[in-house]
Amino acid sequence: MKSKLARYTRYLRYLKESLGTFIVAIFFGILYGASSGFGMPVIFDKVLRQIFLAKDAGEEYSVWAILGIASMLPAIFLLRAITGYLSGYFMSVVSLTVLRKIKQDIFSRIQDYPMPFFDKFTKGDLFVRLSSDTASIQAILLAFSSEIFRQPLQVIGALAFLIYISITKGEVVSLFVFLLATPFCILPVQLVRKRFKRNARLAQEGLSDITQIFNENLGAAHEVRLFGLQESQKSKFEKLNLLFQRLSLGITRYELVQQPFMEILAAIMVSITFVYAYIAGIDFATFSAIGIALYFTIDPIKRVVRMLSDFIKTTPLFDRINEILDYESTVPEPKNPVKIDTLKGEFTFKDAEFAYEDKVVLSDVSITIPAGTSCALVGESGAGKSTFAKLAMRLYDTQKGSIEVDGISVKDIATRDYYANIGSVPQYPVLFNDTIYNNILLAKPNATKEEVETAAKLAYADEFIKELEDGYDTIVGERGDKLSGGQKQRIALARVFLKNPSIVVLDEATSALDVNSELFIQKALDNIMQEKTVFIIAHRFTTIRNVKKIIVFKEGKIIAFGSHAELYETCPHYKMLYDRQSMSQQ
Ligand code: ADP
Repeated sequence: MKSKLARYTRYLRYLKESLGTFIVAIFFGILYGASSGFGMPVIFDKVLRQIFLAKDAGEEYSVWAILGIASMLPAIFLLRAITGYLSGYFMSVVSLTVLRKIKQDIFSRIQDYPMPFFDKFTKGDLFVRLSSDTASIQAILLAFSSEIFRQPLQVIGALAFLIYISITKGEVVSLFVFLLATPFCILPVQLVRKRFKRNARLAQEGLSDITQIFNENLGAAHEVRLFGLQESQKSKFEKLNLLFQRLSLGITRYELVQQPFMEILAAIMVSITFVYAYIAGIDFATFSAIGIALYFTIDPIKRVVRMLSDFIKTTPLFDRINEILDYESTVPEPKNPVKIDTLKGEFTFKDAEFAYEDKVVLSDVSITIPAGTSCALVGESGAGKSTFAKLAMRLYDTQKGSIEVDGISVKDIATRDYYANIGSVPQYPVLFNDTIYNNILLAKPNATKEEVETAAKLAYADEFIKELEDGYDTIVGERGDKLSGGQKQRIALARVFLKNPSIVVLDEATSALDVNSELFIQKALDNIMQEKTVFIIAHRFTTIRNVKKIIVFKEGKIIAFGSHAELYETCPHYKMLYDRQSMSQQ
């Protein structure tokens, strides 16, 4: 974990691009602070005093002179308004730019993080971190950056005036009152700091949970209705919702007591000055100037204290963003990657072992698969087939042993180069809400129309695509929902043909496909299996007929490797699995 300060200072690098704007904003902030803190009291003390003294002494000012002097007040307010506007505006530009950069950085990093990242963070949680957490950080950055120069400068200005009065008129009491009161301003914040911070973190985590439930619920609309989960979902949601309300109220409670506390403190300060002024016989103009100076000291302090409490509220959010920025990849990029072009696809697993967290799910995996071999991965559910395929694709890294492709450790190849050699058809392919054409094209963005159509033909998808009203221009709907499971798989297969990689991983669809689809997919698979290293996670044994080799998994270990005929004779576990399925199909 980084040092405490580095947790925040690291965000300064996002400021680089807008440094010029930042300086301009500070400049106007300084003008604003000075015109309020020093300018106002001076007007009250100097200008107004002069007028009244002159009048008392029987001197007459012309109406124009009075108007001129009087207009200094609106003039200084105008200066304050303009500089306040400009510093506020430029600070907004800066904070919005910083926010944009933070979001872009998080998003970019997520694109490259390996799959284990998504085991650690749920989608809902990531969504809240990227949207709500960053928005709160931006709000505090804005408040902080626009006030951090303006308010202290106002205090310094006003304080300078109080010192000036103290020196010239010996009115040190006001200064003492101010100095005595300042530490008390921080008191309410300090008292509740820890609980405040804890509540803020819990509230944000609560928001993540709510979003996650919502997200999950929307994705399972079908299951909720068919299994009658409405009531349990509602109460689960309500529980989290209530918790969030309670935590948020806790935060608000702390925030609400601060303001009155500060105001009472200010009133006491003014009262003390008032009593002193009366006893010491201070004239009204001096008293008004001191009063104004006190106001301009207490008001910014009030704001700074508020900012401080906002900042405390935001610190857990910085930590939540840091958790994403500092995520240490368990599938790291090699420091000196081996340059590769096209891999042939020969795999050598040597004593490979893998655990998702603590539980070892694959061990003692040692196998050599010659390039161009199509293999079916067979075994009971949970035996480790998918995990083996994920390791071969380097979506995860082994904790022990090694995996080599063409004699190179997969850990020594840049992931982008490696993934360029891999094609994959998951059980439930994900399509983007775009045209069928673009959904295939993403496998090779510079492909020609002919290439896309040829790939679709090889995947036995061309025919059904052409039958659709808009053909290749058909929009597939959210996640491809307008297509059937079999059609989606064929689009995914078309992607593989277009990409034409030397290594292919197929997760056979378990959901019942229509007879047509199944037949076509089988034919398409036969097309793919030529000359490529193919791993098929076989859920049905129909696929096995056409593969060269079969890898048998049992409880996280490979127990046999060979052709169907060999294994049927020599591996009882395989024979049992095969016979069991053949019987169930009869
Ligand atoms: P198969 O494909 O043979 O059904 P898997 O490789 O999917 O088996 O799973 C092997 C074991 O690893 C199972 O016990 C499963 O519960 C566990 N497992 C799979 N994926 C994860 C994951 N993302 N996190 C934790 N455990 C997992």
